[in-house]
Amino acid sequence: MDNGIGGWVTKRAFLNGDKTAFVAGERTLSYRDVERRTNKLGSALFDLGVRKGDRVAALLFNSVEFMEVLIATAKIGAILVPINVRLGAGEIGYILADSGADTFVVHQPLAATGRAAVAEPEVRVRNMITVGGEPSNAEFRYTELLDGGSPEPLRAYVEGRDVAFIMYTSGTTGRPKGAMLTHDNLLWNAINVLATEQGLRQSDITVTVAPMFHIGGLGVHTLPLLYVGGTNVILPSFDPAATLKVMALCRATVQFMVPAMWAAITQVPDFDKYDLSALRLAMVGGAPCPLPVIEFMQQRGVPFTEGFGMTETAPLVSILDAAHVVEKAGSIGRVAMHVESLIVDGDDRGVAAGAVGELIVRGPNVFSGYWMRPEATADAFRGGWFHTGDLGRIDEQGFITLVDRKKDMIISGGENVYPIEVEQTLYHHPGVRDAAVVGGPDERWGERVVAVVVAAPEAQQPNAEELIAWCRERLAHFKCPREVHFVTELPRNATGKLLKTDLRSRFTGVAGGVVQR
Ligand code: ATP
Ligand code: MG
Repeated sequence: MDNGIGGWVTKRAFLNGDKTAFVAGERTLSYRDVERRTNKLGSALFDLGVRKGDRVAALLFNSVEFMEVLIATAKIGAILVPINVRLGAGEIGYILADSGADTFVVHQPLAATGRAAVAEPEVRVRNMITVGGEPSNAEFRYTELLDGGSPEPLRAYVEGRDVAFIMYTSGTTGRPKGAMLTHDNLLWNAINVLATEQGLRQSDITVTVAPMFHIGGLGVHTLPLLYVGGTNVILPSFDPAATLKVMALCRATVQFMVPAMWAAITQVPDFDKYDLSALRLAMVGGAPCPLPVIEFMQQRGVPFTEGFGMTETAPLVSILDAAHVVEKAGSIGRVAMHVESLIVDGDDRGVAAGAVGELIVRGPNVFSGYWMRPEATADAFRGGWFHTGDLGRIDEQGFITLVDRKKDMIISGGENVYPIEVEQTLYHHPGVRDAAVVGGPDERWGERVVAVVVAAPEAQQPNAEELIAWCRERLAHFKCPREVHFVTELPRNATGKLLKTDLRSRFTGVAGGVVQR
């Protein structure tokens, strides 16, 4: 491959230089602008001593600068380490130390946290670069650094198997793990996205509002759009009404967001006022999506579909095609063009069609391993397949339905309970705004089902008995919650995933929130 993902931009600048690559607020950058600016930034990073294989960490909101750092880093063969902007100094310090980053690019509002992180043990950042505001003494100012770089094409030789990103997983089930994604993994993900029924075209426009520091924000539409030469309209933060407004104004044609974002969009009071007629593909993924959210969008004629992906798979694994969204509602569709999948039991033996087991996958988009974690890598790749940790079933036509994560499954009285099924039942109750279901220890049954619910403010507040009765009418007895706790908000991470470890330690007394089996 010619110079990895940085080469995509070079080629697009050559073929369609005037085409708009990025829009952010008042700024519009063409592919030619991006090519020139990332050559300058790349050569400036090289002059700072950044070489092929070195790690460049980025603590940045969604921005043109995020994309420029990504492209410049790729062009010189260095490895980008995107960091979640919501983390605290200790957690950031852990990622800086774990990845061994020596260059660190930080947005001004996060600079104090960034500096505290650099002071953590084992961190060896040499170059700190601040975007916006005043850098403190030894730091570099992003704009000055970029302006001082040479616009000449960069000559680093980047191969497809070189690592482009060390991307940390969301940390939903434990400490985030650094997944090594190669340039080829990202290329094959782009090909998989392009080869889906809806595909992506040069004329496509998306609003990049899902966080870029997670693979969903980058890999679903943003990077594949760079590959085809489309346009990314970048929003630094999520506000439901503002996002809808921008989608209507820029006439977004494709749009990916995580379930919590789409759920908030459906709550915007004058939703129908926004003109989404240009939208040909709206997509949700990254966490289980409440079915009422999908129904809301479909009732309004928005072509809405669900995809499944992971950091380790760059991310696309499967997508539900438009022809099956209604018939197969609740399914995450069939695997992408170059992904293979199997459902296996605890001994890695294939199960019969329709039976529940762990989803394992393989394909050229699957990562090359966890950074500095050979045991975790070997365990995840048992038998040459990547073990997703997700439980699901595949029907005879290949449609996958996820039931839950292996770590979240509840075993009550010897029966398996998949919390997502119980959550979906609760979501349909008019008095429920949000719900989470976890297992707690139970002397008689081993584990018991515990629900934590956010009541809908507009409806009449339900009580615990009412919700338990609602579930009993719809689910087998052993699946029904035996306790319901009401809270004002559920703990979620930046991808909108429920932090069930927090809920378990708070409501069930499970030490550390992790169930040991
Ligand atoms: P960690 O691995 O650190 O615990 P994480 O698994 O949440 O965190 P990600 O790689 O961001 O980190 O997320 C991948 C996971 O997200 C999948 O394994 C799956 O559990 C969940 N997921 C993604 N898309 C969907 C979807 N459409 N429906 C249900 N779950 C989904
Ligand atoms: Mg995971």
